[in-house]
Amino acid sequence: MMSYDPENIFARILRGEIPCRKIYEDDFALAFHDIHPQAPIHVLVIPKGPYVSLTDFCGEAPAELIAGYFRAVGIVANELGLNDEGFRALFNVGAHGGQEVPHLHVHLLGGKRLGPMLTKS
Ligand code: AMP
Repeated sequence: MMSYDPENIFARILRGEIPCRKIYEDDFALAFHDIHPQAPIHVLVIPKGPYVSLTDFCGEAPAELIAGYFRAVGIVANELGLNDEGFRALFNVGAHGGQEVPHLHVHLLGGKRLGPMLTKS
């Protein structure tokens, strides 16, 4: 397991050192618009804690934070109206998953029909 880098860009956003287009924040999570949107709605929801990935978070985070984080994901999806027509929730994990930022984040994508889950090559 990769150790957590407190200088990663999402840690810096959480500390307020770098701006973001915030959508929602509570004690457990912060949601903001992705800087390079890949759908009409593309937001990221990150937990307030030093977790690299989904597996790291599920294995190590306190139950209250896990519950609070996933509750926040649902709140954000509802507030953005993503539930009306449907959306995709995506966690990239590690090298094969294409994870670029080593702070757990879920991508919420929607606003149009998204097509197949993986690009066919
Ligand atoms: P991943 O490949 O799953 O690690 O996704 C990282 C995502 O973070 C990409 O979709 C980037 O566009 C997005 N991203 C990187 N830097 C920022 C930033 N400063 N503000 C918002 N989104 C960012």
